[in-house]
Amino acid sequence: MQDYKVLFTNHRSCRGKNRLRKGLLALPILILFVTAIYADFDNQTVPTETIHISADSSSSITVKLTLPPPFEEMSRAEIAPPPHPKTVETEVITANTDRPIEIAEVIEEPSTWLTHTVKSGDTLAKIFSAKGLSANLLHRIVTSSKESAKLARIRPGQELRIQLDAEGEFIALVQVIDAIHSLEIRRTTEGFIANKVQQAVEYRTAFTSGTITQSLFISAKEAGLPDPLIMSLANIFGWDIDFALEIRQGDRFTVIYREEYLNGKKLRNGPILAAEFINRGKSFQAIRYTDAAGESNYFTPEGDSVRKAFLRSPVDFRRISSRFQRERYHPVLGRKRPHRGVDYAARTGTPVKASGDGKIIFRGRKGGYGKTVIVQHGGGITTLYAHLNSYMLKRRVGSRVKQGQTIGFVGKTGVATGPHLHYEFRLNGAHRNPLTVKLPAANPIAKAMREDFKIQTAPLTMQLATLNRTLLADARP
Ligand SMILES: [Zn+2]
Repeated sequence: MQDYKVLFTNHRSCRGKNRLRKGLLALPILILFVTAIYADFDNQTVPTETIHISADSSSSITVKLTLPPPFEEMSRAEIAPPPHPKTVETEVITANTDRPIEIAEVIEEPSTWLTHTVKSGDTLAKIFSAKGLSANLLHRIVTSSKESAKLARIRPGQELRIQLDAEGEFIALVQVIDAIHSLEIRRTTEGFIANKVQQAVEYRTAFTSGTITQSLFISAKEAGLPDPLIMSLANIFGWDIDFALEIRQGDRFTVIYREEYLNGKKLRNGPILAAEFINRGKSFQAIRYTDAAGESNYFTPEGDSVRKAFLRSPVDFRRISSRFQRERYHPVLGRKRPHRGVDYAARTGTPVKASGDGKIIFRGRKGGYGKTVIVQHGGGITTLYAHLNSYMLKRRVGSRVKQGQTIGFVGKTGVATGPHLHYEFRLNGAHRNPLTVKLPAANPIAKAMREDFKIQTAPLTMQLATLNRTLLADARP
């Protein structure tokens, strides 16, 4: 997003704030007159441009202005409003009994805005031609700068606004990119000038917290956390906490997140800025940090990455239907056996994800395991996924997989009473408990960035601590 430099363009002519301020003095009078004129003319003729006002004995004001268009045109303007409201500027010279007062004339060039919503198959050339603009003009605009060249990338649904003067000559073109961004190309005496225009988005900080009663999803929803942020929360802590198996009643979470507002209206939720999850009494904290290159990641307050080489859970936590014992009486084999992995009960067909980057070294039937996939990772680690209903066809033996990519689908092949995923984690061939094995973490904050990290994240860490204290106090009887 860093290619969006904030460029607020000033569309007022360069007559200066001072005059404008003076003009404001005359504004109430003007409004009265314009209103009066509209009432008088009753929409029949366009009023003249010069108005003489005698304000009192000591001053008279003469104002020349372009009056707003008749009603018919106004309603059209409402359908396709120009991106910037027209301003009627006035110039006022304060009263002086000795000499007549002369007032101002600021006339904005009368212009029309044409609005076009890009349809599929549209090209700029087609649109220009339909609006009576020449191919030559388009060529000159598009080749005027690197920014203008981007105009060529129009997409269906996008809105283009073209401003023409009274003679139908091109003044400006606005390409609306999204609710916030637009590209504006304006004819000036120095040629075409392209500006990226970004509306001022207001950031607000919101927070919520909750205690787990059933599942993270339900409790977070009850706490008012929007769905995408629940997923972010699960992703942020997904390397440390297995949200499918390790969540307990009484676990708590606190989330500080950003909300984005445009013109006082909520536009969307921004990212989680800081969060804490207390799982079975153990606290995990994550703070968002954006480095000099503009890349954002989550770190512990100490600057360690929360990302690990392995996801705790190879199945989306929302898909888990029940929990299995870790060591249990095997219902099919009829004897107690050490269970060397973790079982996730989920519906047949639920996607199974590779828990870390690696290479598939086995895919096929494997005795009681049924349909199985084994992935080889770095550092002598392999992970095994069993009882699959089917495989992800394109991921076969030898395929490289990335963390989180689907490798197969939950089933009950082999020795299994119901559909579930059996997941094993092995280090140099020895079984490790995937829920407790210490996992290698991604790179911590670089030494050179530590100072910046502290400065950027300290307020969030403090906010999180304050929130927790308040919440704890509230929770006390
Ligand atoms: Zn199992």
